[in-house]
Amino acid sequence: MKITVVGAGISGLAAAFAVQQGAQRTGLDVTLDVFEKGDCPGGKIHSEQVGGYLCEWGPNGFLDNKPMTLDLCREAGMGEQLLRSNDAARKRYIFSEGCLQRVPESASEFFRSSLVSWPGKLRLAAEIGVPRRNEGTDETLADFVRRRLGREALDRLVGPMAAGIFAGDPETMSLRSCFPRIHELEQQYGGLIRALLLLARQKRAERRAGKAVAGAAGPGGILTSFAGGIQHLTDGLSRHLGKSLHLGDEVMSITPLKEGFSLRTQRGLVHETDVLIAAVPAMVLASQIEDFSTSMAELLRQIPYAPLHVACFGYTRESVQKGTDGFGYLAARSSGLHSLGTLWSSSIFPGRAPEGRVLLHTMFGGATRPESASMDADEVRRRVQEDLRRTMGITQEPEFVRMIFHKAAIPQYVSGHGARLKALEGHALAYPGLILAGNAFYGVGLNDCVAAANRAANRALALLEHRRQEPVDLYRPAHG
Ligand SMILES: Cc1cc2nc3c(=O)[nH]c(=O)nc-3n(C[C@H](O)[C@H](O)[C@H](O)COP(=O)(O)OP(=O)(O)OC[C@H]3O[C@@H](n4cnc5c(N)ncnc54)[C@H](O)[C@@H]3O)c2cc1C
Repeated sequence: MKITVVGAGISGLAAAFAVQQGAQRTGLDVTLDVFEKGDCPGGKIHSEQVGGYLCEWGPNGFLDNKPMTLDLCREAGMGEQLLRSNDAARKRYIFSEGCLQRVPESASEFFRSSLVSWPGKLRLAAEIGVPRRNEGTDETLADFVRRRLGREALDRLVGPMAAGIFAGDPETMSLRSCFPRIHELEQQYGGLIRALLLLARQKRAERRAGKAVAGAAGPGGILTSFAGGIQHLTDGLSRHLGKSLHLGDEVMSITPLKEGFSLRTQRGLVHETDVLIAAVPAMVLASQIEDFSTSMAELLRQIPYAPLHVACFGYTRESVQKGTDGFGYLAARSSGLHSLGTLWSSSIFPGRAPEGRVLLHTMFGGATRPESASMDADEVRRRVQEDLRRTMGITQEPEFVRMIFHKAAIPQYVSGHGARLKALEGHALAYPGLILAGNAFYGVGLNDCVAAANRAANRALALLEHRRQEPVDLYRPAHG
């Protein structure tokens, strides 16, 4: 019996690896194939080493506060090679009011900090009295923050975070789909301050018990990668797949059969499979399936993607006037910066820059700056350098430059995403062997992609197991 995965980013590779492991565990006889358009696996993950600099084209790592990626690394035999970010990198900054301001890590630091004005602080503290809103609406992140925390919190705290994680626009992002935990905290505890007080008490207890705890300024969890960069993960998974992985073989179309699917690749290959795990971007899947399901294709095309430029600049240590003591900074929405923020990569992990050098990783573009998609590399470079002069006092030319442009970098879970996803899953029931994975649906972080990949693999194996017992019923279309 055959399982085929389309797309070999982290979602496709993790799903394929989980299928392999599951088949071995259960003794199910599975032929696995993975088709990838590119000449190398990894999708957005790519770690490039040049002249002693290590430049991440996409993600810099994953957070260790969820177990999925950690478990995957261990199961694939890479657990010993994991590299946690430096302790100094727990400090995070926001560029606001013309300077870098440390993100407070405790209530007392928050009240001493000048990141938020006194009226802003009082408004934030008043959150404790804001009533819970009922579950019904799919509120945008911006509406939620203005309602509970005030405008300044949106400008200086939440807006920058939304840009840092999703390259997103809080005015359109769905709170429930992008930050389900925050939505849950309001529903469960009646408010965020109430929830934070309780959770902080738990964290203190963990610290006392000697557990490593992330700085309170970050999104929670410690950024984790490998000495050679995060590509080590996707390279390792690809090695496990061996000949099952077909690189440079783009899947052009998918056709449902009476049982399973037929795939046509750009090389002219026609490949039949019982179960198909789709781990490609939403608009790619839309074009592959539109001949048999225009309704699914239409829903997939409604998931927008934000463009993002990544600028990796290397400098001599002397040319960097300020900053680099921490993780990096994000730009307040009112800061007037062109870029979304800059990671101080060589302060986060060891070995990212040669001795005496500094590596900076700036994100430029995102959903709030769609015009960045049409800017050329020179224009982006000029604007990033202008920002680095304002934020870190860097006036010299970088000695190392690497610019990467992702036209469709990160899918945006805009308001209505949950309903769209439900509708999509509803339509997919008509094709039980078609399983959705990939970052367009259930989360964009590596942990979320791996979790969705594991669910996809389990479902694929369960379908085959079921089919072994009841071959005809399973593949009878539910309608159409
Ligand atoms: C700049 C940037 C920084 C990020 N930073 C972080 C971070 O620090 N931490 C974190 O957790 N997350 C981060 N993310 C998010 C995370 O990297 C992505 O959500 C995740 O890597 C997406 O993986 P994926 O496999 O779902 O999709 P992709 O990586 O997009 O993989 C899809 C694959 O499908 C292939 N494909 C496309 N069309 C076809 C076809 N027709 N046939 C066959 N194959 C096809 C593509 O070539 C690609 O390999 C970042 C993302 C970006 C862009």
